[in-house]
Amino acid sequence: MTKAAAAPRGVLHRWAEILPLSDKTPRISLGEGETPLVRSVHLAGLCGLDELWFKLEMCNPTGSFKDRGMVVAVAKAIEEGAHAIMCASTGNTSASAAAYAARCGIDCFVLVPGGKVAAGKMAQAIAFGSKIIEIDGNFDEALNAARELTARHPVALVNSVNPFRIQGQKTAAFEICESLGDAPDILAIPVGNAGNITAYWKGFGECAELGRATLHPRMYGFQAAGAAPIVRGEPVREPHTVATAIRIGNPASWKSAVSARDESGGLIEAVTDDEILEAYRLLAHKEGLFVEPASAASIAGLMKLGREGRIRGGRAAAVLTGNGLKDPDTAIAQYRPDVTKASATAESVERALGW
Ligand SMILES: *Cc1c(COP(=O)(O)O)cnc(C)c1O
Repeated sequence: MTKAAAAPRGVLHRWAEILPLSDKTPRISLGEGETPLVRSVHLAGLCGLDELWFKLEMCNPTGSFKDRGMVVAVAKAIEEGAHAIMCASTGNTSASAAAYAARCGIDCFVLVPGGKVAAGKMAQAIAFGSKIIEIDGNFDEALNAARELTARHPVALVNSVNPFRIQGQKTAAFEICESLGDAPDILAIPVGNAGNITAYWKGFGECAELGRATLHPRMYGFQAAGAAPIVRGEPVREPHTVATAIRIGNPASWKSAVSARDESGGLIEAVTDDEILEAYRLLAHKEGLFVEPASAASIAGLMKLGREGRIRGGRAAAVLTGNGLKDPDTAIAQYRPDVTKASATAESVERALGW
């Protein structure tokens, strides 16, 4: 018997028709995209929703949605002759860039805010062999430096200011419409540099134009209270939050996030770290979903609106952007471990269990 070769997978293969690819774009892939859409069993009611669906973007190859856009950005950079890429990152962009660079045999330079990147994300950048520069400053300052460096040197910038990132990330909206048979009433999403809310809004717009959806969702974006420049209407100089992936004080895609909010009749609001951590614990305890704190911001936001009576039924999809394994320190600090020691005998384990 001959073995069937696995069908080609990945965003460039699956979504070629809606992406700006040419014959010369290398069809690279780490198997990104086509992530599960899983229905909530416990939290929908707390949010005042009839249906809540989780888009598990944490199931991408490096554990966050960043892969969906990075694969397009890296393929286009290689098509245009680049031998190196650079990004500023709160952690997940660098993990993703480093993975695709390793895969494609090009150099990767990552600028991270010193001491502010979760351990798992640092481990990834290290494992994939990227050159890591720890900046004595925050993400916004690192991004400014990266923009200037990539203007001066032959290195492609792969932050979400790169339009190919947005193109790739919009494919998640297509997948949600395909899975649900239409767009949801509400799309809930954490907002950091605001590339992803921009990408989803673009994607849902294209779905409607192409007849793949009959409605446009209201876009509900959530920022951490200590890093909520769009909510406050001015940049935050010293952003702080436990949700390090959205610890951003001056989002690059600010204007397009505001357009997504206003054109969709949606909102962008702030949730406190306590609210984020409550949602973080509930997602794990009640839904079996271990996400990183930033991902819990969208659920924290929906729960807050639900409590305030501002959601009355309907169907929402929430983007779970990153995997909980990326930030083990927050997990160990926030979940109360239920651990008892015992000897390696059935009797001893019975005693430990109180049986
Ligand atoms: C990058 C990231 C975000 C924020 O996305 P933006 O496009 O910067 O708004 C949220 N959650 C996780 C896990 C991320 O990695």
